[in-house]
Amino acid sequence: MSVTVYYEKDADLGQLKGKKIVIIGYGSQGRAHALNLHDSGLDVTVAVRAGSPTMDKVKADGLKAQPMAEAVKDADLIAFLLPDPSQPAVYNQFVAPVCKKGLTLLFAHGFNVHFNQIQAPAEVDVIMVAPKGPGKLVRDLYVAGQGVPCLLAIEQDASGQAKANGLAYAMGLGGARAGVIQTSFKEETETDLFGEQAVLCGGLAALMKMGFETLVEAGYAPEMAYFECINEVKLIVDLIYEGGLKKMRHFISDTAKWGDITRGPRVIDEGVRENMREILEEIQNGEFAREWVLENQANRPVYNALLKREAEHPVEEVGERLRGMMKWLEK
Ligand code: NAD
Ligand code: MG
Repeated sequence: MSVTVYYEKDADLGQLKGKKIVIIGYGSQGRAHALNLHDSGLDVTVAVRAGSPTMDKVKADGLKAQPMAEAVKDADLIAFLLPDPSQPAVYNQFVAPVCKKGLTLLFAHGFNVHFNQIQAPAEVDVIMVAPKGPGKLVRDLYVAGQGVPCLLAIEQDASGQAKANGLAYAMGLGGARAGVIQTSFKEETETDLFGEQAVLCGGLAALMKMGFETLVEAGYAPEMAYFECINEVKLIVDLIYEGGLKKMRHFISDTAKWGDITRGPRVIDEGVRENMREILEEIQNGEFAREWVLENQANRPVYNALLKREAEHPVEEVGERLRGMMKWLEK
């Protein structure tokens, strides 16, 4: 591999022993980080907003909780695990006033640092430890003695200990059992945004919707269109997840394979490549970041309108009806 990967043998948990680790945000990532680090023998405090019901939840989980201002006051490491758009305000109100030499600010995604929404003074360390999986998986694998691979990036290393502390944190999460991949805030931020826009969320949803619409417009039953263009995506993606395109092609019919290799490139053609390059350019030059920051400042008018329109798309109504026939999907 062309990237540098670290494992437990490269990490020293002792780096963070006895240090006060403060977790802000107790959602998907925050809860998993707090529990794993605590179970690894580190000193974890969850910072909660005044009057928040999270206080009880944290205590029920057997962890320490403190109000925001009190928690960050004497922290050695502060992990920002609240939604990215909410981070700058919390940084400005609570964290900026306590920034001093020896403090580490830790992020699980690079957006705010890379696009300068949070600009920490030069005397603090700024690092990223980003598990490549949802919080539930980060927790479940840790408990099972395994771990989710993590990304590690160093933006500011005032103490000279940034990398060692990042590796120790990744070890406490269980991530060093699987591997810690060295990257930068820029690379993580730009590839993450591109992946979710062009392929994972944006590209895939648009591809499925357009396939569905094409069949329905040609007079086929929406139920048939839903099964063929949406529901069955999971079967295909599961095979790719387990064994790459190779495994997927091993399990589909020869007819499906012939259609795949001859028609696929006509659907996703060179025009799409051009669009992808444009989207990447908008990420790299900050245009996307500016748009999203302004959208949040305006209380998300376009975001809300577009999501409302998406929710009213016929595909959602058909899907709901069909999922009603698939009793095994009910949790
Ligand atoms: P989340 O939405 O699951 O949880 C966020 C938590 O922060 C919630 O409990 C919410 O109540 C709390 N919160 C919201 N505003 C707050 C405020 N002003 N003050 C204090 N707490 C507040 O978020 P998440 O998915 O865990 O994401 C956290 C970070 O981890 C983000 O930077 C995200 O990009 C990153 N990340 C997420 C994943 C993932 O799979 N979910 C993976 C890697 C990295
Ligand atoms: Mg991502």
